[in-house]
Formats: sequence, structure tokens, C-alpha cells
Amino acid sequence: MTAPRNALPVAIAGGGIGGLACALALARKGFRSLMLEQAREFGEVGVGLHVAPNALSVLDALGVGPAAKKNALMIERLQMMDAVTGEEVVNIPCDARFEQRFGNPYAVAHRAHIHGPLLEACRAHELIELRTNSRVTGFEPNDAGVSVTLESGERIAAAALVGADGVYSNVRKRIVGDGDPLPAGAIIFRATIPAAEMPKDLQRPYPTFWAGPDWHVIYYPISDWSLFNLGCTVLTRQAKLVEAEEFAPDVVLPLFPNGCETPMRVIHIPKSFRRFVIVHREPVGNWTEGRTTLLGDAAHPMVQYIAQGAAMALEDAICLAAEADACDGDFAQAFLRYQDIRIVRTARVQISSLMLTKLNHAKGVERKVRNSLFEGRTTEQHYDRLAWLYTAPPYVK
Ligand SMILES: Cc1cc2nc3c(=O)[nH]c(=O)nc-3n(C[C@H](O)[C@H](O)[C@H](O)COP(=O)(O)OP(=O)(O)OC[C@H]3O[C@@H](n4cnc5c(N)ncnc54)[C@H](O)[C@@H]3O)c2cc1C
Repeated sequence: MTAPRNALPVAIAGGGIGGLACALALARKGFRSLMLEQAREFGEVGVGLHVAPNALSVLDALGVGPAAKKNALMIERLQMMDAVTGEEVVNIPCDARFEQRFGNPYAVAHRAHIHGPLLEACRAHELIELRTNSRVTGFEPNDAGVSVTLESGERIAAAALVGADGVYSNVRKRIVGDGDPLPAGAIIFRATIPAAEMPKDLQRPYPTFWAGPDWHVIYYPISDWSLFNLGCTVLTRQAKLVEAEEFAPDVVLPLFPNGCETPMRVIHIPKSFRRFVIVHREPVGNWTEGRTTLLGDAAHPMVQYIAQGAAMALEDAICLAAEADACDGDFAQAFLRYQDIRIVRTARVQISSLMLTKLNHAKGVERKVRNSLFEGRTTEQHYDRLAWLYTAPPYVK
């Protein structure tokens, strides 16, 4: 076994995409870690994910790019349609020019096909220990690092702790203490549609995004075209945080009025939907306390409109490991440097994503203004506006 650079492991709370990427990035710099996942098994919910070029560049840097891309679909374009008139509003080619500009194509995938290769790479690495049934409930700093408490009462001695425990993070409670995330004023109804049930003329090699009045609908192929991922989001004042309830079409469909024929055809296909309340948090100026820090949704949860939450978690992971390396295992210093590097970029993505609420759901004259904003924009001009987001930061290498 390669001698690790740290005697005690770095504990990582949460084995989602962010936590696994963090373990792998640290291992590739010679640091050992102990992954503590609350669930009985590692896994991801069975829905789709946009994997923008900046996210693919992180997967490449972690050595899992080829495995992740194998089961992903490299999309042909990014498109927005006006769901009232049926006209095309935005069409951004994701072709060779796109790849050349941003260093990678743009993919969509089943979440398991991104999480899976990361998990396999972690399992294969001798510096990573993976534990399930291990819910982190608290932590205490001590001279050696951090004592991490599990729900079972067990205490784990760690050199440092990374809270990658998602939007309801326990680790965040102590560092930031801002309570539960806030409802963002929207709910999403999700379903997967078997390809055999999807009309042939709507099976396109890219996500089709329909922007309606106070709602939007998006669908795209996943799992080698065997399924279509469908997300139907509607603005609502409803604040009750209930996760993953099943809903029948007769409850869901009336929430999506005044749409043209095509999106309506698609949302009439599923026989049931799962409902999720969209939550967010305001950006914060600190997410680190000594040798404990946060990563991914635990640090900077965002609404999904910019499709970058997992991408930001991946970028965090590689930045954190680069700083641990640069600080030669002084995790308190490394975590402050990591946070300093990441806060503005992640806060910009959180804020930009929330601002898209208006653009994606415009109605009346605002809808016409939205459409006019994109009129005549060339491909290069689209790329220029997206460059801040899709260009991987310099530490992604
Ligand atoms: C509707 C929707 C669509 C989205 N679409 C996209 C998209 O297209 N592209 C994109 O990049 N992002 C997207 N996102 C965002 C993305 O899903 C998240 O940002 C990403 O999953 C965050 O990863 P994470 O590892 O930080 O957290 P999570 O994926 O939430 O993982 C957290 C892990 O920690 C575990 N855990 C929780 N608490 C504890 C604890 N106390 N102790 C131990 N383990 C714990 C959980 O079981 C879980 O395994 C979307 C989000 C939503 C809601």
C-alpha cells in the first residue's frame, strides 16, 4: 500500500457525487479518507442530469471521464422553446466548435452513470475506505483533528471533516447555523418515460426545454435512449417541504395550462409523477471552521435552472484536494484557501440560477421580452456569454 500523507483519515460525510469526487481527488494527491454515508447502500435517484463541459473536465481530471462518457449522451444542442407559441427561442449548437471552446462536449446522463464510475474508482483506491449506515450527527475539534459523531453514538477520529451531506447538511448546522433551506417557490414533478412510449418525432439527441407561463417542461434521453427523463416545474407559493410523494396525472396536468400541443403531448404520457419541492439557500461568506469544511450542496445549494449543482460539487472536490496538496496536509489552512477560491464562483452560480426563474417562466409581455433578448444572437455570442460558466477553472487539471 502506498503510504498515505495523513495518519488519520479525512472523514467525508455523504457519498453523493460531491463526496465521492472529494475522496477520489484527495486519494490522487496521496491523502486517505473515510467516506461516511447515511444510506444502507451508495446510490443516486433514478433521474437524469445535465453534465456540462466544466463537469466533464473534472471527471476527466479524476480519471473517470471515459467511464462516465460511455453511458452519457453528448448532446447536439441546447434549445429553449416558447411553450405558448411553439417557436424556438434559443438554439446553441454543442458541436466541434463548442467542444473546442470549452474543452469538452455537453452531456446528459442517468445520475447513476455519473455516480457509478466515481463509486467504482473509490472502491478500487487503496486510500479510500467506504462505510454505509453511517449518519454523521456532529463533530468536535480536538488537538489531533476532528472527532466525528455518528447517529449510532460511535466516535471517529479524523484528521479533518468534509461535510458533503447535501442540502439538509448536519455539518452545516454547526458551521453556518442557518436552519433548513428555504422553499424557492417552485415544485418539480419528475417521471421517466420508456422510449417505446415516447413519440418518435420527439426523440431528439438533446434536451428539449419548453418555457411556459409560470412553468417549464424539459425532457431528454438517458440510459442509451431506453428512457426519457421528464421534469415538469411549476411556480407555487406552497412552502410545505414534503419529499418524493407520488402524484397522479389528474393532479399534475392542470398545473401546466396554456401550453401548445407538443409539451402537452409529452406530459400526458406518464402514469405517475414524483414531486419534489425546490429549495435553495442564500450564498454565505464562510463555510469553514478549523479542520471542518463544506462541499457541494451542503455549502451552496441552488435551484436547478442552470443545471450546475453537481458540476459545482465536482469542481469543489478538485479544488479542495489541490489546496490540501499545496498546504501539504495542513487542512485548516487548505480549507480556508479552498473556500476563498470557490465562494465567488459558486455564489455567482447560485444567484444566476435563481435569476433564471424569471426568464424560464415568463408570461405576458415579459415572455415577448424574453424571446426578443435572444433574437439575432450568433453562436459565438452565445458561447461568449456562457464562457464564465462552462470554462473549467484553472485548478481543474
Ligand atoms: C430537480 C433537480 C435537477 C437537477 N439537475 C441538475 C443537473 O442537470 N446538473 C447538475 O449539475 N446538477 C443538477 N442538480 C443539482 C444536483 O443534483 C446537486 O447539486 C448534487 O447532487 C449535489 O451533490 P452533493 O454530493 O453535494 O449532494 P447530494 O447528491 O445530496 O449527496 C449527499 C449525500 O450525503 C448523504 N447524507 C446526507 N446527510 C448525511 C449525514 N448526516 N451523514 C452521512 N451521509 C449523509 C446522502 O444520503 C447523499 O448520499 C439538480 C437538482 C435538482 C433538485
